[in-house]
Amino acid sequence: MRIVLMGPPGAGKGTQAVKIAEGLGVPHISTGEIFRANLAAGTPLGVEAKRYMEAGEYVPDEVTNSMVAARVAEPDAAQGFILDGYPRTLAQVGELDSILQGLDTALDKVVEITANTDEVVARLLNRAKEQGRADDTEEVIRRRMDVYAEQTEPLVNVYSERGLLVKVDGMGSMDEVTARLLAALGR
Ligand code: AMP
Repeated sequence: MRIVLMGPPGAGKGTQAVKIAEGLGVPHISTGEIFRANLAAGTPLGVEAKRYMEAGEYVPDEVTNSMVAARVAEPDAAQGFILDGYPRTLAQVGELDSILQGLDTALDKVVEITANTDEVVARLLNRAKEQGRADDTEEVIRRRMDVYAEQTEPLVNVYSERGLLVKVDGMGSMDEVTARLLAALGR
C-alpha cells in the first residue's frame, strides 16, 4: 500500500505513521525526520534545511523533492510506504505524481488526520517541553499552523477530487486513533 498521511502539526501524524507502517509492514518515510537526521549529522542538506525548519517555514521544494525521489526509489519502498509530511504543497503533489509514475505505480490512499487547533497547540507545547525540538516554541508552532492552513490544507481537495481521500478523527487516545486509521485503510 502506498499511503500519504496528512494532518496539521500536532495531530499525532508522526506517531500514527510509525504504528501504521508497522501494521502494514511498509517503511515509514517522514521528510521532517530525514531533515532532522541531516541537521543532527551536519550534512549540507541539514544546514540548508535548518533555517526554514527553525522558522516554521517549508524547506524549498527542489531540496525536498529530490530527497523524496531518492528515498521512495529505495528497495524497501518497492512494496509500499507511508509518506508522512510529504507532499505539503501543490507543487509537491505534482512532483510526487511524476516520481510514482516513473516507478510505474500510484498512491492507494491519502489519509487526513483531523484535529482541534487548541488541543493541537497544547500538544505541541507539551512535546516542546519533553523533546526540546527547536521548532516547537509557541511562535513557531503558530507559524507552522498558518503555513499548513495556507499551503497544505488545499491538498485535501485535490486528493478528495481524485477519490483518494479518507478523513480520520485524530482526537482521543493513541490506540483509538490507530484503530480508526487501520479501519479506514481496510485493515
Ligand atoms: P514535520 O516533522 O513533518 O513536522 O516537519 C518538520 C519541518 O521539516 C517542517 O516544519 C518543515 O520545515 C520541514 N519539512 C518537512 N516536510 C516538508 C515538506 N514536504 N516540504 C517542505 N518542508 C518540509
